[in-house]
Order: sequence, then structure tokens, then C-alpha cells
Amino acid sequence: MATHSVYIGLGSNLAGPEEQVQLAFKALDALPKTAVIQCSQLYASKPQGPQDQPDFVNAVCLIETELEPLMLLDALQAIEQSQGRVKIRRWGERNIDLDILLFDEAVISSERLTVPHPQIAHRDFVLLPLAEISAGLLIPNLGCVDDLISQLDTTYVKPWQAT
Ligand code: ADP
Ligand code: MG
Repeated sequence: MATHSVYIGLGSNLAGPEEQVQLAFKALDALPKTAVIQCSQLYASKPQGPQDQPDFVNAVCLIETELEPLMLLDALQAIEQSQGRVKIRRWGERNIDLDILLFDEAVISSERLTVPHPQIAHRDFVLLPLAEISAGLLIPNLGCVDDLISQLDTTYVKPWQAT
């Protein structure tokens, strides 16, 4: 079986966001035929959707997995469910959000899955942790992660600090 290098974006702003992200790192590492190779630090970001919700804790991790893209998406959605995620509103509050940012160098456009993640170029809370663990990373069709960061107007992301 081929091993794939996959970057996962994590975000939480409910139910103890720091613990939710740490739990999700463990759940990813516990998936079959999957290992977490590297995790970024945690970041704090302002919500980009509705503003009347708590700030987010975000992170990115690199995993190696033998799961194929849709199997991995199923597994991520099962972890979201197991951590009590319920759909409240688009870009709204959630216990945990797990997105496939990059899957090897694949470009995927199907009903359930778009890779690279469709919002990746616009999300400072994804690009900063991605560049932290993989400076110089090339994103298919979009270019180098560091160049994408330099094209953002401003970034609103800070290293997360426990309060
Ligand atoms: P968002 O992450 O944009 O806030 P959701 O987590 O509710 O939204 O996901 C909505 C749908 O996005 C999922 O049902 C999934 O099928 C789809 N999707 C498309 N591309 C991806 C991707 N790269 N990673 C995760 N989900 C994706
Ligand atoms: Mg998602």
C-alpha cells in the first residue's frame, strides 16, 4: 500500500478548544495505518464567519497514512462526531473541524472533497501553521506557502496562550 503525506487543518472554538485540538491530534494518530508526523503549535484566530462566536484555536499537522482520500475524509468526520460536533451554522462555532488541506500533490475535485482545500489561500489561520511546519511547501496550482502569506493583507493570527 502507498503511504500518503497529508496536511490536516484543525480548528475549535467550543468545549475547551485547546483540549479539543489535543484530543484530535491523538485521534488522528490512532487511526488505522496512520501516524502523526509533526504538529504545529496552537494559534488563536478571530472567527472569519459570524462574529458573535468565540475566538478559535487552530493548528495544522502532517500525517502519513495509507488511507485513500475519501476513507480519510470519513475517518475525519467520525472523529468530529466522536468529539461531539453538531452543525450549528456555516463557518460557525464547532467543537472540532478537521479539514484535508493537502493530500500528496493531488488535485481532487469531487462532490465530497476538494483538495487543495478551497479556502487555503485566504486563511491566515491555516497558512501560518502550515508554513511553521513546512516552510517552502508548494501547494498545487497556488504556489509557495510563504508567498501566499505575503499576499495576505494582514494576518490576525497569534500564537495561542493559555489564559
Ligand atoms: P467547513 O470546514 O468549510 O467549515 P464543514 O466542516 O461543515 O465545513 O464541511 C462541509 C463539507 O465540506 C464536508 O461535508 C465535506 O464533504 C466537504 N469538504 C470538501 N472538501 C473538503 C476538504 N478538503 N476537507 C474536509 N472537508 C471537505
Ligand atoms: Mg470542515
